[in-house]
Amino acid sequence: MEVAMTNNQNVIQNFLPPGKKAAICFSMDDVHPGKSSNAYEAGGDLEKGALGLVENLLLRHPELKLTIFLTADWRMVNPFPTYKILSKIPVLRDKIYLAPVMPKGTMQLRKHPEFVEYLKKMPNTEIAFHGLHHVHKGLLTNLEFQKQSFNDFENILAEIEGEFKACGLNFQKGLCPPNWLAPENLINAMVADNFSFLASSRDLFTPVSKDAKSNMSGLKGVSMIYPERIANGKLIHLPANFNATRSIDRAIEIIEHNGLLSIKAHVAKSLAGHVLYDGVDEVYMNYLDTLLTVLKQKYGEQLWFGTMSEIASYASQVELKN
Ligand SMILES: [Zn+2]
Repeated sequence: MEVAMTNNQNVIQNFLPPGKKAAICFSMDDVHPGKSSNAYEAGGDLEKGALGLVENLLLRHPELKLTIFLTADWRMVNPFPTYKILSKIPVLRDKIYLAPVMPKGTMQLRKHPEFVEYLKKMPNTEIAFHGLHHVHKGLLTNLEFQKQSFNDFENILAEIEGEFKACGLNFQKGLCPPNWLAPENLINAMVADNFSFLASSRDLFTPVSKDAKSNMSGLKGVSMIYPERIANGKLIHLPANFNATRSIDRAIEIIEHNGLLSIKAHVAKSLAGHVLYDGVDEVYMNYLDTLLTVLKQKYGEQLWFGTMSEIASYASQVELKN
């Protein structure tokens, strides 16, 4: 089989199984036990909330697979600083939370067994990492991973994994960092801890092409539509390149380029008054229902639906064979 040429040897353009034209994955961030009676609903309302809406989509499209990026002990209430005066005081502002946070343990997974059991029963769903607390002191409230040391990150990853294990969750060693930021020390800690994939870039607007690079949120310069080897080949990077704000034409272009259509959702529609365009609601799920129906009619069996860990695993083996 002829292997497509690429101008970047780390991009894995030939990541598809035989007979497949393109891959589709679907991931959802910020999942934690928050209910509508808390700061916001993030899955805690179970079938009556966002998880129920997503589950309906999964049942209507049994090929579709979901990767849930789960936070082990969510503490964030507001994604941006609300203590305005403190935010203006240098040095001090870096040492304190500049918005209210929940006490440690409030949203710790093991304290919400019904939520955990619901996750375990979700169809075609895998669990991966989306931070320990999803909050940071200083001005960048919702970027949990910033200037911590390699050892700090090793401890954070171990604490998340320990929480997943304590709950008996079947999880994958893949990570989407809160607000997309994956510093070098984090990536090195992931490699040391045998992670398989990182999902740290989002680009919804750069025109689709074989050489398109992610240039919006998070990691820049990685392929926008293909898996890519990073960290000296020890991790696979998977991009996000599609959500509710984009037209079906963009999805078709990614498929026509034999790429990975990587659809992103966020579990909450609004965080403390900040609306998320790709937040789960009936409108977004209806849109994805339509999108998937159109794509399946057009491409049928040529589409490979995978979880992110399945796609990363296959892509890493393809690369080894070549
Ligand atoms: Zn997040």
